[in-house]
Amino acid sequence: MKAHTQYLTFHTRSEHEYVHITPQVEQIVRQSGIQEGLALVSAMHITAGVYVNDNEEGLIEDIEKWLEKLAPRNPNYKHHQTGETNGDAHLKSMLVHHQVIVPITAGKLDLGPWQRVFYAEFDGRRSKRVLVKVIGE
Ligand code: ZN
Repeated sequence: MKAHTQYLTFHTRSEHEYVHITPQVEQIVRQSGIQEGLALVSAMHITAGVYVNDNEEGLIEDIEKWLEKLAPRNPNYKHHQTGETNGDAHLKSMLVHHQVIVPITAGKLDLGPWQRVFYAEFDGRRSKRVLVKVIGE
């Protein structure tokens, strides 16, 4: 078994951003040389996430609205007693989850026809990292 690790870095311009990262993950899989295995794509932060879904503008707006409804910006989170202001970003991260595992078959990401990998930022305008670890043979 081989393992190959790389990091993607982000510094989003907005507080919230949904970044399509399938091409970057595919490139890392190619560079790994691994033909059969798994790619773990994991946000290394507690106010960001990684998910698999459609790369469709309307859906992305729907996701943003849905997350805002379930975990609204709100000054009254207990977390804010620490002096932080990003309680909603922690909750949004938990809703989309922080990582995904994508299968690799014949040297390529084995995604369904509409499945794409996204980095979801909920507390941006600062440097963030996503770990991509490819394991297999
Ligand atoms: Zn916080």
